[in-house]
Amino acid sequence: MATEQTAITRATFDEVILPVYAPAEFIPVKGKGSRVWDQQGNEYVDFAGGIAVTALGHCHPALVEALKTQGETLWHTSNVFTNEPALRLGRKIIEATFADRVLFMNSGTEANETAFKLARHYAITRHSPYKTKIIAFHNAFHGRSLFTVSVGGQPKYSDGFGPKPADIIHVPFNDLSAVKAVMDDHTCAVVVEPVQGEGGVTAATPAFLQGLRELCDQHQALLVFDEVQSGMGRTGKLFTYMHYGVTPDILTSAKALGGGFPVSAVLATQDVASAFHVGSHGSTYGGNPLACAVAGAAFDIINTPEVLDGVNAKREQFVRHLRAIDEQYDLFSDIRGMGLLIGAELKPAYKGRARDFLYAAASEGLMVLNAGPDVMRFAPSLVVESADIDEGMARFAKAVARVTG
Ligand SMILES: *Cc1c(COP(=O)(O)O)cnc(C)c1O
Repeated sequence: MATEQTAITRATFDEVILPVYAPAEFIPVKGKGSRVWDQQGNEYVDFAGGIAVTALGHCHPALVEALKTQGETLWHTSNVFTNEPALRLGRKIIEATFADRVLFMNSGTEANETAFKLARHYAITRHSPYKTKIIAFHNAFHGRSLFTVSVGGQPKYSDGFGPKPADIIHVPFNDLSAVKAVMDDHTCAVVVEPVQGEGGVTAATPAFLQGLRELCDQHQALLVFDEVQSGMGRTGKLFTYMHYGVTPDILTSAKALGGGFPVSAVLATQDVASAFHVGSHGSTYGGNPLACAVAGAAFDIINTPEVLDGVNAKREQFVRHLRAIDEQYDLFSDIRGMGLLIGAELKPAYKGRARDFLYAAASEGLMVLNAGPDVMRFAPSLVVESADIDEGMARFAKAVARVTG
């Protein structure tokens, strides 16, 4: 067959991939820092960061070096044998956070699946077989396996797949009295994103997270923070819980953790971790040497004052530009989020049109994200250059002129 000779185009996507995505018309083929090039050689400024993943930009030399070196050394051992990169990375994470133990997985979904199973198992084995209720929030996003999508708070993602895992309750985000109303001794965990990402870039209030901690303590429930999107420097601290002074019992990390190489982690206290025993849970690839070597290199760069302290200055530069665009086009009802997870909610006149702005941005040479139909989302590299911010925002202003004009 001539398959090898046939050109790869956007049309190929519809011929070979299950129809679950609607990717942009162009196909990126190369990236460097915060710039990306497509098949035709068009250049883009990247404010999407692969959905908050490429936290050190594309092809960061230290990550490339770690990948090459490990790639010539040892790729895979499975969990029957441990490996040095995983143990090194685990030690770094424990030294820098509340956690006493870590388990590596391959995606945000898997980390959350692990976290929810751990929370249930802890409650069932330590307290009661009936302590299984999980409290989660409207608009939350925790992944796409049947358990994680059911804990997520968007029924449009979880409906249509038959019976869902039971005993999961959703209440409004940032509404402590709504949590109080459903919290009881049968609750095993409260699961929350400190900053809701997919749900619209909404930060938790300090009183809300503090209140959740107190309620969990009163009812011997575990507090689980999903920091898959908000973690690893995204908001200017290593993890967002550090801004709030509220410590979870379990925390999940993924996205930026590997800087673009798939890897995730579940962080837990010693007490919680000890509910699991040999055989309780596992993964063939989780914690493989390649992923952990790259993540280790990313961790060493992200967890420094230079990178973490730079996040807020860069945020200010973004927000200045967004305000200027808003002044000219009367576009946003709110500019929010934390650090370099920035949301700009569209005014009623442009409600539902976030994707139009995204497509217009692409044709001006800019990659951005939306978070639902009404919110533009910016999740650039944490080390995005000041000149790239200016250039990308100039392109965004042109895209806005196009859509509103
Ligand atoms: C992206 C995301 C997930 C799912 O991660 P995958 O790697 O896509 O499985 C879970 N939780 C949050 C908060 C996310 O942003």
